Amino acid sequence: MNSRRNFLQKLVASAIAFPLIPADAYTLNEKKEDPAWDGPPLRVAIMGLGSYGTRVAEAMRDCKRARLTGVISGTPAKITNWQSKYNIPAANCYNYENFDRIKDNHDIDAVYVITPNALHHDQVIRVAKAGKHVICEKPMAVNAKEGQEMVDACKKANVKLLVGYRMHFEPKTLEIIRMRKEGELGKIGFFQGLSGFTIGDPTQWRLNKALSGGGAMMDIGIYSINGARYMVGEEPVWVTAQETKTNPEKFKPGVDETIQFQLGFPSGAVASCLSTYSMNNLDRFFLDGEKGWAELWPATGYGPIKGRTNKGELTQPHMTHQTVQMDEMAAIIQEGKQPVVPVDGDEAVRDLKIIDAIYEAVRTGKKVELK
Ligand code: NAD
Repeated sequence: MNSRRNFLQKLVASAIAFPLIPADAYTLNEKKEDPAWDGPPLRVAIMGLGSYGTRVAEAMRDCKRARLTGVISGTPAKITNWQSKYNIPAANCYNYENFDRIKDNHDIDAVYVITPNALHHDQVIRVAKAGKHVICEKPMAVNAKEGQEMVDACKKANVKLLVGYRMHFEPKTLEIIRMRKEGELGKIGFFQGLSGFTIGDPTQWRLNKALSGGGAMMDIGIYSINGARYMVGEEPVWVTAQETKTNPEKFKPGVDETIQFQLGFPSGAVASCLSTYSMNNLDRFFLDGEKGWAELWPATGYGPIKGRTNKGELTQPHMTHQTVQMDEMAAIIQEGKQPVVPVDGDEAVRDLKIIDAIYEAVRTGKKVELK
């Protein structure tokens, strides 16, 4: 029964062909009521049982249409612990050597890759080759070339590739996007994005370029890049950037500590952003238009997100981001639902191209044009 269901589900999923994203990715979706789902849940295996993987697993307890059914880990003790905590059968447990065998597992529809950044590329491609849909954490890859290879591999395998952009489902964020799209803020002129925190343990993988692919920009600065795009509603055409390093011992070559960067958009709007591993209290977005303004502060933490506009406080309720994200991603994978802001691999490659350009601008000291 399960395998028949799985077969039918895959048939439906592949019939709703790519691409998910409309030509103008920022036009408002038609407001369709999401009919109550009476089909099977999306059965997800988590790869990488670390701090964020644990957060996602806990949040999935409240999901209506996504369910944790498998794990992939290199640590047998963690597997045993997760098996008892989440009721996961031994047949759905894998390690990094044997997870290609997930191909033959009919109780798993998708794998959520939540490992260090530089591992995502190979792991996502292996999952795609095993015929399972993939959800991958941000940054999807460590550069645009690798990101594009992941997108191509998933297309070739006819599986969907989604990226853990949880803010794309956050109600206050979506309200500001609605206001901007409906003209309530007027012509947008400026966005400011501040993303940073003081990072601790100098031995962690986030400060090891071989595993992180970079520094603060890869980990936290990406929120300002992605935020600038969904708040302004355009794709940037140029980048300038400047780096400051106060602690070269902790932040080795290739691991950025603090980068200020500027983005220019086709309309003439500009963005000014800060990405850092050396300052706290930096999680703030500000959007300014001719008719109004909007602020989110905190803008991208786990919440509650707080926001206000020239019209007053935003009052949309807080919902656990990862619960909403996983239910929405189940709808995207199973029914081809279109999110207001894309969460697919192409969306991630757009961010990675900007990260590549920021690093180039830092290296050369020049303005970098984006194609
Ligand atoms: P973490 O260190 O807590 O967990 C990483 C996991 O990967 C660990 O279980 C570790 O054992 C495993 N792993 C597998 N191979 C490894 C290797 N070779 N070296 C080191 N660890 C290895 O990290 P995390 O905070 O859970 O971050 C994981 C991913 O999730 C990152 O890509 C990060 O950017 C992303 N993340 C996203 C959010 C978000 O809000 N969307 C928040 C935190 C982290």
